[in-house]
Amino acid sequence: MSKWKAAIVKRIEQRSPTVRSFWLALPDREVLDFRPGQFLTLDLPISERRRERWRSYSIAAAPDGTNEAELCVVHLPGGKGSTYLFEETQVGTELLTKDPGGVFTLPDRPLDFDVVMVCTGTGIAPFRAMLQQRLGHETRRFHLIFGCRRPEDLLYREELAALAEEFPNFTYTAALSRELPAEQMTFETVEGYVHQIYERDYPTPRPDLRFYLCGWSQMVDEAKERLLRLGYAEQAIVLELYG
Ligand SMILES: Cc1cc2nc3c(=O)[nH]c(=O)nc-3n(C[C@H](O)[C@H](O)[C@H](O)COP(=O)(O)OP(=O)(O)OC[C@H]3O[C@@H](n4cnc5c(N)ncnc54)[C@H](O)[C@@H]3O)c2cc1C
Repeated sequence: MSKWKAAIVKRIEQRSPTVRSFWLALPDREVLDFRPGQFLTLDLPISERRRERWRSYSIAAAPDGTNEAELCVVHLPGGKGSTYLFEETQVGTELLTKDPGGVFTLPDRPLDFDVVMVCTGTGIAPFRAMLQQRLGHETRRFHLIFGCRRPEDLLYREELAALAEEFPNFTYTAALSRELPAEQMTFETVEGYVHQIYERDYPTPRPDLRFYLCGWSQMVDEAKERLLRLGYAEQAIVLELYG
Protein backbone atom coordinates (compact mmCIF):
# COMPACT_ATOMS: atom_id res chain seq x y z
CA MET A 1 0.00 0.00 0.00
CA SER A 2 1.44 3.39 -0.94
CA LYS A 3 2.37 5.91 1.78
CA TRP A 4 0.99 9.37 2.42
CA LYS A 5 3.05 12.16 0.93
CA ALA A 6 2.87 15.94 0.78
CA ALA A 7 0.80 17.69 -1.87
CA ILE A 8 1.05 21.47 -2.10
CA VAL A 9 -1.84 23.54 -3.44
CA LYS A 10 -0.40 25.55 -6.35
CA ARG A 11 -3.45 27.23 -7.86
CA ILE A 12 -7.19 27.48 -7.29
CA GLU A 13 -9.71 28.54 -9.92
CA GLN A 14 -13.49 28.95 -9.77
CA ARG A 15 -14.95 26.84 -12.60
CA SER A 16 -18.68 27.37 -11.99
CA PRO A 17 -20.78 28.81 -9.16
CA THR A 18 -20.20 25.63 -7.09
CA VAL A 19 -17.05 24.05 -8.54
CA ARG A 20 -13.37 24.88 -8.17
CA SER A 21 -10.23 23.39 -9.65
CA PHE A 22 -7.33 22.80 -7.27
CA TRP A 23 -3.87 22.14 -8.71
CA LEU A 24 -1.73 20.03 -6.38
CA ALA A 25 2.02 19.50 -6.78
CA LEU A 26 3.76 16.45 -5.32
CA PRO A 27 7.23 17.72 -4.37
CA ASP A 28 8.61 14.18 -3.82
CA ARG A 29 8.83 13.66 -7.61
CA GLU A 30 9.56 15.55 -10.80
CA VAL A 31 6.81 13.97 -12.84
CA LEU A 32 3.43 12.72 -11.68
CA ASP A 33 2.76 9.52 -13.57
CA PHE A 34 -0.84 8.28 -13.86
CA ARG A 35 -3.41 7.00 -16.31
CA PRO A 36 -6.31 9.31 -17.21
CA GLY A 37 -9.31 8.19 -15.18
CA GLN A 38 -7.29 7.65 -12.01
CA PHE A 39 -7.82 9.64 -8.80
CA LEU A 40 -5.91 11.01 -5.84
CA THR A 41 -7.00 10.22 -2.29
CA LEU A 42 -6.49 13.06 0.19
CA ASP A 43 -6.16 12.80 3.95
CA LEU A 44 -7.93 16.01 5.05
CA PRO A 45 -7.77 17.37 8.63
CA ILE A 46 -11.51 17.04 9.19
CA SER A 47 -11.78 14.23 11.73
CA GLU A 48 -9.89 12.50 14.54
CA ARG A 49 -10.56 9.17 12.88
CA ARG A 50 -8.26 8.28 10.01
CA ARG A 51 -10.79 6.71 7.68
CA GLU A 52 -13.25 9.56 8.10
CA ARG A 53 -10.64 11.95 6.73
CA TRP A 54 -10.12 10.35 3.32
CA ARG A 55 -11.69 11.83 0.19
CA SER A 56 -10.87 10.82 -3.39
CA TYR A 57 -10.86 13.16 -6.39
CA SER A 58 -10.44 12.19 -10.04
CA ILE A 59 -7.54 13.85 -11.81
CA ALA A 60 -9.18 16.22 -14.29
CA ALA A 61 -6.36 16.65 -16.81
CA ALA A 62 -4.03 14.29 -18.69
CA PRO A 63 -0.42 13.89 -17.49
CA ASP A 64 1.60 16.86 -18.77
CA GLY A 65 5.13 16.00 -17.70
CA THR A 66 4.96 18.05 -14.48
CA ASN A 67 4.42 16.88 -10.89
CA GLU A 68 0.98 18.55 -10.74
CA ALA A 69 -2.57 17.22 -10.86
CA GLU A 70 -5.75 19.23 -11.38
CA LEU A 71 -8.69 18.20 -9.19
CA CYS A 72 -12.17 19.51 -9.96
CA VAL A 73 -14.28 19.63 -6.80
CA VAL A 74 -17.91 20.56 -6.14
CA HIS A 75 -18.74 22.26 -2.85
CA LEU A 76 -21.34 20.15 -1.13
CA PRO A 77 -23.15 22.25 1.52
CA GLY A 78 -22.51 20.53 4.84
CA GLY A 79 -19.93 18.21 3.30
CA LYS A 80 -16.87 18.14 5.54
CA GLY A 81 -14.22 17.41 2.92
CA SER A 82 -15.37 19.78 0.20
CA THR A 83 -16.05 22.54 2.75
CA TYR A 84 -12.49 22.16 4.04
CA LEU A 85 -11.15 22.48 0.49
CA PHE A 86 -13.31 25.52 -0.29
CA GLU A 87 -13.01 27.39 3.01
CA GLU A 88 -9.69 26.42 4.58
CA THR A 89 -7.41 25.70 1.64
CA GLN A 90 -5.29 28.36 -0.01
CA VAL A 91 -2.38 28.46 -2.42
CA GLY A 92 0.53 27.07 -0.41
CA THR A 93 -1.58 24.82 1.84
CA GLU A 94 0.04 21.43 2.34
CA LEU A 95 -2.25 18.41 2.09
CA LEU A 96 -1.53 14.70 2.25
CA THR A 97 -2.14 12.35 -0.66
CA LYS A 98 -1.23 8.91 -1.99
CA ASP A 99 -0.01 7.78 -5.37
CA PRO A 100 -2.74 7.95 -8.04
CA GLY A 101 -5.05 4.94 -7.92
CA GLY A 102 -8.08 3.41 -9.59
CA VAL A 103 -8.98 1.26 -12.58
CA PHE A 104 -11.49 3.54 -14.33
CA THR A 105 -9.22 3.84 -17.35
CA LEU A 106 -9.22 3.12 -21.07
CA PRO A 107 -7.13 0.17 -22.29
CA ASP A 108 -3.44 0.97 -22.78
CA ARG A 109 -3.61 0.38 -26.56
CA PRO A 110 -5.45 1.85 -29.56
CA LEU A 111 -9.17 1.40 -28.94
CA ASP A 112 -11.15 -1.21 -30.86
CA PHE A 113 -14.48 0.11 -29.56
CA ASP A 114 -16.38 3.41 -29.48
CA VAL A 115 -16.75 5.11 -26.11
CA VAL A 116 -19.87 6.79 -24.73
CA MET A 117 -19.00 8.82 -21.64
CA VAL A 118 -21.94 9.66 -19.39
CA CYS A 119 -21.53 11.98 -16.41
CA THR A 120 -23.07 14.70 -14.29
CA GLY A 121 -21.31 17.58 -12.52
CA THR A 122 -17.70 16.94 -11.54
CA GLY A 123 -18.07 13.41 -12.93
CA ILE A 124 -16.67 15.03 -16.06
CA ALA A 125 -13.17 15.13 -14.51
CA PRO A 126 -11.83 11.70 -15.59
CA PHE A 127 -13.35 12.09 -19.05
CA ARG A 128 -11.62 15.41 -19.64
CA ALA A 129 -8.29 13.72 -18.83
CA MET A 130 -9.05 10.78 -21.15
CA LEU A 131 -10.15 13.05 -24.02
CA GLN A 132 -7.08 15.27 -23.68
CA GLN A 133 -4.88 12.21 -24.00
CA ARG A 134 -6.73 10.27 -26.72
CA LEU A 135 -8.27 12.75 -29.17
CA GLY A 136 -6.03 13.05 -32.20
CA HIS A 137 -4.60 9.55 -31.61
CA GLU A 138 -7.67 7.35 -31.99
CA THR A 139 -9.86 6.48 -34.97
CA ARG A 140 -12.74 5.29 -32.78
CA ARG A 141 -15.58 7.62 -31.78
CA PHE A 142 -16.04 9.35 -28.42
CA HIS A 143 -19.40 10.77 -27.32
CA LEU A 144 -19.46 12.81 -24.12
CA ILE A 145 -22.92 13.18 -22.59
CA PHE A 146 -22.72 15.70 -19.77
CA GLY A 147 -25.65 16.49 -17.50
CA CYS A 148 -26.05 19.48 -15.22
CA ARG A 149 -28.73 21.90 -14.11
CA ARG A 150 -28.07 25.27 -15.68
CA PRO A 151 -25.83 26.65 -18.46
CA GLU A 152 -23.46 28.17 -15.88
CA ASP A 153 -22.79 24.66 -14.52
CA LEU A 154 -21.35 23.48 -17.86
CA LEU A 155 -17.77 22.75 -16.78
CA TYR A 156 -14.98 23.23 -19.36
CA ARG A 157 -17.61 24.46 -21.80
CA GLU A 158 -15.42 26.39 -24.26
CA GLU A 159 -12.71 23.77 -24.20
CA LEU A 160 -15.08 20.89 -24.94
CA ALA A 161 -16.88 22.87 -27.64
CA ALA A 162 -13.49 23.55 -29.29
CA LEU A 163 -12.56 19.84 -29.15
CA ALA A 164 -15.89 18.92 -30.76
CA GLU A 165 -15.17 21.37 -33.58
CA GLU A 166 -11.61 20.16 -34.06
CA PHE A 167 -12.12 16.39 -33.92
CA PRO A 168 -14.76 14.78 -36.16
CA ASN A 169 -14.68 11.62 -34.02
CA PHE A 170 -15.76 13.54 -30.88
CA THR A 171 -19.36 14.48 -30.15
CA TYR A 172 -20.37 16.57 -27.16
CA THR A 173 -23.95 16.70 -25.91
CA ALA A 174 -25.02 18.68 -22.86
CA ALA A 175 -28.26 17.82 -21.06
CA LEU A 176 -29.59 20.70 -18.97
CA SER A 177 -32.30 19.84 -16.49
CA ARG A 178 -33.29 23.39 -15.55
CA GLU A 179 -33.07 25.95 -18.35
CA LEU A 180 -31.82 26.02 -21.88
CA PRO A 181 -29.40 28.82 -22.72
CA ALA A 182 -30.78 31.70 -24.71
CA GLU A 183 -27.64 32.07 -26.81
CA GLN A 184 -26.63 29.72 -29.57
CA MET A 185 -24.37 26.88 -28.40
CA THR A 186 -21.79 25.38 -30.75
CA PHE A 187 -22.57 21.91 -29.43
CA GLU A 188 -25.80 20.00 -28.99
CA THR A 189 -27.79 21.10 -25.94
CA VAL A 190 -30.88 19.19 -24.89
CA GLU A 191 -33.41 20.02 -22.20
CA GLY A 192 -33.67 17.04 -19.86
CA TYR A 193 -31.46 14.30 -18.43
CA VAL A 194 -28.47 12.32 -19.72
CA HIS A 195 -30.57 9.16 -19.98
CA GLN A 196 -32.68 10.52 -22.83
CA ILE A 197 -29.57 11.15 -24.92
CA TYR A 198 -27.96 7.69 -24.88
CA GLU A 199 -31.35 5.99 -25.18
CA ARG A 200 -32.01 8.11 -28.26
CA ASP A 201 -28.55 7.66 -29.84
CA TYR A 202 -27.70 4.05 -28.86
CA PRO A 203 -31.00 2.16 -28.55
CA THR A 204 -29.59 -1.05 -30.01
CA PRO A 205 -26.63 -2.91 -28.44
CA ARG A 206 -23.47 -3.21 -30.55
CA PRO A 207 -20.48 -5.33 -29.52
CA ASP A 208 -18.04 -2.50 -30.30
CA LEU A 209 -19.52 0.06 -27.92
CA ARG A 210 -18.58 0.70 -24.26
CA PHE A 211 -20.31 2.98 -21.79
CA TYR A 212 -18.22 4.73 -19.16
CA LEU A 213 -20.38 6.19 -16.38
CA CYS A 214 -19.09 8.57 -13.73
CA GLY A 215 -20.68 10.50 -10.87
CA TRP A 216 -23.05 9.97 -7.95
CA SER A 217 -25.04 6.78 -7.51
CA GLN A 218 -28.38 8.38 -8.35
CA MET A 219 -27.36 8.90 -11.99
CA VAL A 220 -24.86 6.03 -12.36
CA ASP A 221 -27.18 3.32 -10.95
CA GLU A 222 -30.08 4.48 -13.08
CA ALA A 223 -27.94 4.62 -16.24
CA LYS A 224 -26.60 1.12 -15.65
CA GLU A 225 -30.10 -0.23 -15.09
CA ARG A 226 -31.41 1.44 -18.25
CA LEU A 227 -28.49 0.16 -20.36
CA LEU A 228 -28.96 -3.41 -19.11
CA ARG A 229 -32.66 -3.10 -19.96
CA LEU A 230 -31.72 -2.01 -23.50
CA GLY A 231 -29.78 -5.29 -23.75
CA TYR A 232 -26.19 -4.10 -23.22
CA ALA A 233 -23.90 -6.63 -21.51
CA GLU A 234 -22.46 -5.94 -18.04
CA GLN A 235 -18.97 -5.96 -19.59
CA ALA A 236 -19.97 -3.08 -21.88
CA ILE A 237 -20.58 -0.83 -18.86
CA VAL A 238 -17.70 0.59 -16.79
CA LEU A 239 -18.42 2.63 -13.65
CA GLU A 240 -16.79 5.16 -11.34
CA LEU A 241 -19.00 5.91 -8.34
CA TYR A 242 -18.36 9.13 -6.43
CA GLY A 243 -20.75 8.20 -3.62
C1 LIG B 1 -13.10 7.42 -6.89
C2 LIG B 1 -13.77 8.74 -6.51
C3 LIG B 1 -13.51 9.88 -7.24
C4 LIG B 1 -14.13 11.08 -6.90
N1 LIG B 1 -13.88 12.18 -7.65
C5 LIG B 1 -14.48 13.36 -7.36
C6 LIG B 1 -14.23 14.51 -8.15
O1 LIG B 1 -13.45 14.50 -9.11
N2 LIG B 1 -14.88 15.67 -7.81
C7 LIG B 1 -15.76 15.73 -6.74
O2 LIG B 1 -16.31 16.81 -6.49
N3 LIG B 1 -16.01 14.64 -5.98
C8 LIG B 1 -15.38 13.47 -6.25
N4 LIG B 1 -15.61 12.36 -5.47
C9 LIG B 1 -16.45 12.53 -4.25
C10 LIG B 1 -15.57 12.99 -3.09
O3 LIG B 1 -14.67 11.97 -2.72
C11 LIG B 1 -16.39 13.35 -1.84
O4 LIG B 1 -17.26 12.29 -1.55
C12 LIG B 1 -17.20 14.62 -2.04
O5 LIG B 1 -16.29 15.73 -2.19
C13 LIG B 1 -18.11 14.88 -0.84
O6 LIG B 1 -17.33 14.88 0.33
P1 LIG B 1 -17.72 15.80 1.57
O7 LIG B 1 -16.79 15.43 2.67
O8 LIG B 1 -17.78 17.23 1.15
O9 LIG B 1 -19.18 15.35 1.92
P2 LIG B 1 -19.57 14.21 2.95
O10 LIG B 1 -19.84 14.88 4.24
O11 LIG B 1 -18.60 13.08 2.93
O12 LIG B 1 -20.84 13.62 2.17
C14 LIG B 1 -22.17 13.89 2.36
C15 LIG B 1 -23.07 12.90 1.58
O13 LIG B 1 -23.52 13.47 0.36
C16 LIG B 1 -23.30 12.58 -0.76
N5 LIG B 1 -22.94 13.43 -1.91
C17 LIG B 1 -21.82 14.12 -2.02
N6 LIG B 1 -21.84 14.88 -3.14
C18 LIG B 1 -23.01 14.65 -3.76
C19 LIG B 1 -23.62 15.13 -4.96
N7 LIG B 1 -23.03 16.06 -5.73
N8 LIG B 1 -24.83 14.68 -5.29
C20 LIG B 1 -25.45 13.77 -4.50
N9 LIG B 1 -24.93 13.29 -3.35
C21 LIG B 1 -23.73 13.71 -2.98
C22 LIG B 1 -22.18 11.67 -0.34
O14 LIG B 1 -22.25 10.40 -1.00
C23 LIG B 1 -22.44 11.56 1.17
O15 LIG B 1 -23.39 10.54 1.41
C24 LIG B 1 -15.01 11.14 -5.79
C25 LIG B 1 -15.26 9.97 -5.04
C26 LIG B 1 -14.66 8.80 -5.39
C27 LIG B 1 -14.94 7.57 -4.56
